[in-house]
Amino acid sequence: MATLSYSQQRDQLVQAAQRLHQTGVMSHSGHGNMSARLPGQDLMLLTSVSHLTHLSPEQLVVITFDGEVVEGTLDPTTREIVGMHSCVYRERQEVNAVIHTHSPRTTSFALAHRPLPCVYEAFLRFGITEDIPVAEWAPRGSEEAVSYIVAQLRQHPTVPAVLLANHGLLAFSSDPLATAQIIIIMEESAQLTLDAHPLGGAQGFPAGALERERKHMQRYGSTQ
Ligand SMILES: [Zn+2]
Repeated sequence: MATLSYSQQRDQLVQAAQRLHQTGVMSHSGHGNMSARLPGQDLMLLTSVSHLTHLSPEQLVVITFDGEVVEGTLDPTTREIVGMHSCVYRERQEVNAVIHTHSPRTTSFALAHRPLPCVYEAFLRFGITEDIPVAEWAPRGSEEAVSYIVAQLRQHPTVPAVLLANHGLLAFSSDPLATAQIIIIMEESAQLTLDAHPLGGAQGFPAGALERERKHMQRYGSTQ
């Protein structure tokens, strides 16, 4: 999929932040950050604030994958998140947007160090055919934390998200709105999985279902 233009990416980031709030998947603090890959050499648009409430285009800066600000002003406390975003673009050429939130139901799994299980039909519809893995904890934005994210990306080359142990989630897809949608279905799935617990717990798909779904997607393409 072609990378969106600068203005399309900027508009979609603002729309994606609104959508995350409208659908009620943000934590109470509204904490989060998001980025979009720009056409050209290792550049991204990145939020310069640490929450996504009322995100405006002026709160987006252009920055290199190494953290050099090209346009705008980046709050020093925001600089530490650069590596968490750029590592995904470096590992996944098809990814053009990355969003980090503390969406509460999904973050409960991250606190429990439990992968978010692939047990919900909506996952299959978005091409997710395995559990969302957990990256080990390390200080936020540290090289160690980034290395744990990269390790999960390499071990699970098709997943569009990783849980960050004791912290939150990182989701990524072809554009900001598609990435917001991944977070919405993860949060839905996390809530349904937790709600199913007193009923005996979520059950997996029938034997062979994931392979059948993969074949189906190859034939018709993902509907996302
Ligand atoms: Zn965070």
